[in-house]
Amino acid sequence: KFLTLEGVDGAGKSTHLEWMAEYLRAQDIHVLLTREPGGTPLGERLREILLAEPMHLETETLLMFAARCEHLRTVIEPALARGTWVVCDRFTDATYAYQGAGRELGVDRVTALQKWVHPDLEPDRTWLFDLDLGIARERLAASRDLDRFEREGAEFFTRTRGGYHQLVTQSPERFMVVDASQSITAIREDLKADLEQLVAR
Ligand code: C5P
Repeated sequence: KFLTLEGVDGAGKSTHLEWMAEYLRAQDIHVLLTREPGGTPLGERLREILLAEPMHLETETLLMFAARCEHLRTVIEPALARGTWVVCDRFTDATYAYQGAGRELGVDRVTALQKWVHPDLEPDRTWLFDLDLGIARERLAASRDLDRFEREGAEFFTRTRGGYHQLVTQSPERFMVVDASQSITAIREDLKADLEQLVAR
């Protein structure tokens, strides 16, 4: 199975990733935990460039998909073919939300790249860590050095979150929306119930 985590910056998805992988491993499932942009040596180099360097929006989108293509061909697709479950921190939904909606590239060009790079692969489950922007900003302000996406203004975040909500409306059965304003324990309970169902299927 192919499982992804999404959400605006500051929603706390990274806190839950490792725990989810451990939960699945405890059920004797082979799990590969990975992330985008990144997940391969080339992808991690592209990530560094993407997070640090200002560039044209189209260049940014193409580099996101270049990193994704390498990740799919060398890591994700072989793992899925072996029966390994892949848990990925962000995937193409992030490009719809950040570049498509946040930076206003629009849906169509992201769709064109998706059809090129992975016409037949969609996550089996996507957890969207959804959070009020005020709280997300507070969490970010209290945290580490911010990358160039995290330094964006409130309008960008609002559009990005809206982009995610649009994806949920389009594919409600694929998404579980996690209320990320809850405590870590409460979030974990929601995730555990959902993971149990996935394992049983
Ligand atoms: O989730 P993570 O913090 O690792 O993401 C790295 C950065 O890349 C984030 O600031 C995120 O907003 C940004 N990003 C993006 N477009 C994507 C994927 C990630 O702007 N398609």
